[in-house]
Parts: sequence; structure tokens; C-alpha cells
Amino acid sequence: MKLPLPTALLLTMLTLPTWADSDNPLDSSAEARAILAAVVSFDTASGHGQVPKMAEYLAAQFRAAGFERTDITLVPLGDTASLVVRYHGDGRGGKPIAFMAHMDVVPANRSEWQRDPFTLVEEQGYFFGRGTLDMKEDVALLSQTFIRLKRNHFMPSRDLILVFTGDEETSEETAIDLVNHHRELVDADYALNGDMGSGVLDASSGKPLLFYIQGAEKSVASFTLTARNPGGHSSQPRPDNAIYELASALTAISHYQFPTQTNSWTISDFKAASTVTPGSLGQAMARFAEHPTDQAAATRIAQSPPYVGKLKTTCVATQISGGHAENALPQTASAVVNCRIFPGTSAETVQSRLQALAGPRITITSNYPPTYSDPSPLRSDVVAAVQKAVDAANPGAVVAPTMVAYATDGSVFRKAGIPTYGVGSMFIKDAENYSHGLNERIPVERFYNGLIYWDVIIHTLATDSH
Ligand SMILES: [Zn+2]
Repeated sequence: MKLPLPTALLLTMLTLPTWADSDNPLDSSAEARAILAAVVSFDTASGHGQVPKMAEYLAAQFRAAGFERTDITLVPLGDTASLVVRYHGDGRGGKPIAFMAHMDVVPANRSEWQRDPFTLVEEQGYFFGRGTLDMKEDVALLSQTFIRLKRNHFMPSRDLILVFTGDEETSEETAIDLVNHHRELVDADYALNGDMGSGVLDASSGKPLLFYIQGAEKSVASFTLTARNPGGHSSQPRPDNAIYELASALTAISHYQFPTQTNSWTISDFKAASTVTPGSLGQAMARFAEHPTDQAAATRIAQSPPYVGKLKTTCVATQISGGHAENALPQTASAVVNCRIFPGTSAETVQSRLQALAGPRITITSNYPPTYSDPSPLRSDVVAAVQKAVDAANPGAVVAPTMVAYATDGSVFRKAGIPTYGVGSMFIKDAENYSHGLNERIPVERFYNGLIYWDVIIHTLATDSH
């Protein structure tokens, strides 16, 4: 709904007194905790059919807060679903901003956890539960923020759209369905993705150190390499052998280094990381950020598993099989090589490079079509809003742009022409990242700080002062 200016001003003035009582985001901490507890209780791992139930629970919260039924859309897809909620602004700020999150989680076996993974447990300053970090915390925080702002009659300068998908951890089909078949529901100037981006707490002091805002993703491709041979009895070895040929091909691939590449996200990332990374690695990062042609610096960084993927395309053997009997010459031998492809390089280029390394006797096939996405433009208004929100919620952290070496729903939106920025609110220590693992948890204090974080983001990017 677009209001003419005087009406909007009048409404703002009329509602001002009620703001004053309840404008502090932390006043809604108990409600945010209740939503977190409720959403954690749904086992939304793939195949359990619980995502639509969780979406219905959330829809009921939005209706109760005053959102029109027509602004709350549940989009079923197979046994999962998306939930899209539109918060109408006055339109003066331009096209909408989308806020993305996913409702599904990776599976958790009750028997392996110390606590029930589907019951929110608060203990020793942490919230434990499947999805507390990836990423029901931001589902709860974003929902509670929208609910509180709605109750307070906050009028944004542009529409704000919550986009909760239902299968990010598996096929990302709900995100693909939204951009392809429900574009009008989710179309936005840009999207802020709670699933990516993250705050880092210092390992010893626990103080906020860095906050990564993510604007680029590598594409993922897997190739199967196969060697075939007529085989025969193992007492009569032939000069050619499927296992040896496959082994030679894999060895050649293991020795190959793809060329170094950069974009504005990775250069800024190395610059920021150099300030908190000790020793020769930190020095190499600083040199590389300054001179991306510095080969010695690139070689040093490439020795570090967490950072090599930010330098170049990487390919690595992950699975192998071959032979059919211990006393027979192998008729087939095959291996899977998994590649993380730097934005700007095509999967075809990577495949032909692998073929050249493996030689003509190896057949290479692509296992699935990779999702490409170009890096989103580094927007200074988004970076500034994130810095302001981090300063308010978790002061002390430096905001650093980054690219990640895996693909998320964000790549689906980027590919569809909606620039997407990973800005998830949570701060943790690196050693406490149990996302996808056992005993997943988040610090309770940092969860509540997330209410301040999203409030500042929205006020900075969606009010007239901006
Ligand atoms: Zn996630």
C-alpha cells in the first residue's frame, strides 16, 4: 500500500507515543526465544514433511501481529514449502529489499546427541539444538523483528520481503521455484541472506573480531573419471590397466594448480584477514591484497586449506571405485573429482582442463549442471548499514567482504538477477562452529543481540534518512 506523503506523516505522528514504550528490540527477547524454541522443535530435515508445518506456525505469528492474509504466502513444493511475507512500505525508497533464510536443516540423530536436537536447551550460556546456527536463529530473529515493527506501526520507505525457503540443504528447488514461477512475490532491488555472512569472536577473549559480508559464491561441479579395459585373468597382465590409468590421471590432476583469480570480494577478504592472521600466512595475505600478481604470496596462501579456495578454482578427488574381483584384471575404474569453480570460469573450461590432464583414455562426464552466479556488486550502502548494525549489536568487529567456496540459495537469486549479500547476524568462535554437526549451538547473548542487528539494518536501509 502506498500512502501519499501527508497521510504517512500523520500516521507516523499518531503512532509515535506507542513506539517509545516498545521500541527497544531487546524488549522482545522472550518472544524471539519462544519463536526459536518453536521452530527448532520441527524436524525440518529433508523427507520429514515438517517444513510446511513450521511455515504454517510462522504464518500464524505474522497474522496475529497484524499482517494481512494476502501478504503471507505459503508456496508448497513437493513435501516442502516456501513462506513469503510482505511488509508494505510507502515506496519512497524504491524497490523492495528481500530478507532470505531457509527453514530446513541437515538431519540430526537423537541417539548421537547429548541433548534432544529438536528441543531448544539453554545451558552454560548457549542455546543447543539442530538449526540454532544454520539457520533457525535468523528465521526467529527476522520473524520477531518484522512482528515487532508491524505492531509498532513502523512504516518502511520500501517493501520488505521475508523469503523463507524449504530445501536449501539439499536441492534448492524452492528458491529456484520462487525466482522462476513466483517472481512477483520475491522480486527485489537486492536480497540480504541470513544464511551466509558471519561474525567471528576471538578464540580466547570471545570479543567480536570480524564480520564477513558475503557477495560471491563459487559454483560446484562434480566429474566422474572412468577408465575402461577389456580385462582378463590376473595371471596374464596386459600393458594397459584401468586402475593404473585412473591412478595416473588422478596424480596428474593432484599436481595441477588452476590459475590465481581475484574479485573485489576476495581482495577485501584477504586484506581484512591479514590483520587478524599471524605469521607468514598473514603477511602473504597482506602482500597479495596489495599486489595480486605476487606469485610467492599466492603460493603461501595456497598452502592453507581454508584460504586456497578464495584464490582459484580447486578440484580434488573425493571418491574411487574399480575392479570386480581380486584375481581379475579391472574392466573399469572410476573416481569422482569435485571442483569449486571461481566466478568467471566455466565448468566446460574446467572439464577440458581435467581431460587434458587425464589423457584420452579417460572418459570424463559431468555429474550435474553447476549453478553459476556472478559476484554481486559491492554496494557501499549495504556495507555501511551492516557496519552500523554490527557496531550497535556486537561492537568491535571489522566488516570484511568475502566469497565462499560453496553454493547456497544466494547463488539462485544472484543468477536470477537479484544481487544477494550474506549478512547473517550470528557471532561465534571458529572452534564452536557445529553447523551440520553434533550439538549445534549459539551463544545466548549473541542471539539476543541479533534483534538489535536486524532492527538497525532495516532502519538504515528502509527509512527516509537513507
Ligand atoms: Zn544454511
